[in-house]
This record gives sequence, C-alpha cells and structure tokens, in this order.
Amino acid sequence: MDLGIAGRRALVCAASKGLGRGCAEALAREGVDVTICARTEADVSHAAQEIGDLAGRAVAWVACDITTAEGRAKALAACPQPDILVNNAGGPPPGDFRDWDRAAWLRALDANMLTPIELIKATIDTMIERKFGRIVNITSSAVKAPIDILGLSNGARSGLTGFVAGLARKVVRHNVTINNLLPGSFATDRLRTNFETRAKASGKPYEELRDAAMNATPSGRFGAPSEFGAICTFLCSVQAGYIAGQNVLVDGGAYPGTF
Ligand code: NAD
Repeated sequence: MDLGIAGRRALVCAASKGLGRGCAEALAREGVDVTICARTEADVSHAAQEIGDLAGRAVAWVACDITTAEGRAKALAACPQPDILVNNAGGPPPGDFRDWDRAAWLRALDANMLTPIELIKATIDTMIERKFGRIVNITSSAVKAPIDILGLSNGARSGLTGFVAGLARKVVRHNVTINNLLPGSFATDRLRTNFETRAKASGKPYEELRDAAMNATPSGRFGAPSEFGAICTFLCSVQAGYIAGQNVLVDGGAYPGTF
C-alpha cells in the first residue's frame, strides 16, 4: 500500500532510540523528510545517520531538550511547519506519591502533557491551512490501565488524553488528525531500566523478572519498536484521515478488557 506521505515533512521528538526512533525509521522508509531530536548531540546525530542509511534518504537532527521552551524552539527551527508531528519525551520516574512534591508534578506535567500541547499549538494552524496534518502522541497503556508505581505518568498522560479528545474533534474537518498511541511493554532501554530498578528492589535477577513479565502476557513477548513505528506511520498516512481522537493500544493483548 502506498501511504501517500512521501515528501511530507515530519518532526519526531525524542527519537535517538526506542519508540521514537522506531517511528522515525518507519516514516523515513516511506519517503518522509524526517527531523529527529534528542538531548545529546552525539547520540542524535549518530541515530540520524543510521536511520538515513537504512532508509536511503537524509534524516535531519537537532540536539535539544524538548521539554523546555528553548528546546522546542530549536526543534521547530530545524523543522518549521511539519506536516507530521510525533510527540514523545522520556517518561516520569516511578515512585510513591507521598514522595512527590509540587516540583515533581510540574516536571511530569511539563514533559508529558504541556510539551505536546505546546508543539501542537505551534504547528496545527499551518496544518489546517494546508488541509493536511497528522499528529501522533506517544502516551502509554497506563492511560487505560494505571501502573501503580507510575502515578506521575498515569496523571500527566491522562491530562493530555483529555485535552486531545476535545481538540481532535475540532480539527479533523480540515484533514488534520490527532491520535494517541499507547505502548504496552516494548523492548527499549526505558523498559530495561524499569526491570533493573525492580531487580535491585527485590533482590531477584533482572532476567528472571523480565522473563516472568514476558510469560505473563498473552503474546509471551515484548513489542519491537519497529512494530510500533509501523502503526504510527499508518496513522500518519493519507488512508488514516478518518481516524481521529483515538487511543490506539499496542500491547500484544495485555489489557484484559473485552473493549
Ligand atoms: P527510551 O529510553 O528507549 O528512549 C527515549 C528517547 O527519548 C531517547 O532517544 C532519549 O534520548 C529521548 N529523550 C528523553 N527525554 C528527552 C527530552 N527531554 N528531550 C528530547 N529527547 C528526550 O524510551 P522508550 O521506551 O522509547 O519510551 C518513550 C516514551 O514511551 C516514554 O515516555 C515512555 O515512558 C513511554 N512508554 C514506553 C513503554 C515501553 O515499554 N518502552 C511503555 C509505555 C510508555
């Protein structure tokens, strides 16, 4: 299937590795002009080179912290007026809500709620003018089924989800769609770090915890960033213009509900 987005411009945030990188790779393979960002220059430039080599087309990069106003300005200067925006950033740390003060909450809200909203605000009007826009927010399965130790994530991402639900219905008539992609467990550095934290706390080996978690899921495995990237790219396609304001769960069947 020709997804109809070759030659479109995409800004993919937080994409030197993991899920963001999976999205950048899949978009670049479709002939999209991709700009990626991440905080460390060496990492993001290296990732852009590797993705470009895989896709057979140049990938632009910018080193910035997307959760700051300066970082967002740098990203938008590198990729002004994108047709496709993939919002992503690192997730908040795990912990107990009794230990989180106002500053901890504001950091989580800044990174996982207000940063995507600011980037949407900066890009959506030109998408509406051009009558084409695709915005995908990488959130989490925690929006649908909260994860006990990730209260900051549960809260901040639910705020974004509520906001997007309203805005998506105001812009879809201009062929601008906004959807959220909800990852379950994907084999990335972030997931590895979570298991290392649990291994340290429990005194059990990392491999034992990881394998038990994989076996406890219906699919018996973790997802691959390439699978996630392919779904993101379909949501960015011409064909997906009638999918708006949805929360697409990608978790290998881990969520136990019928709907
Ligand atoms: P990862 O650690 O593998 O990769 C994160 C990427 O984001 C890296 O390229 C890093 O450099 C970049 N980054 C982090 N903070 C940044 C910032 N402030 N500015 C710019 N770049 C930044 O993580 P991942 O597993 O790909 O997770 C991506 C998002 O998805 C996170 O918010 C995570 O909480 C969420 N998530 C992941 C999973 C999973 O199983 N991997 C599940 C649910 C939710």
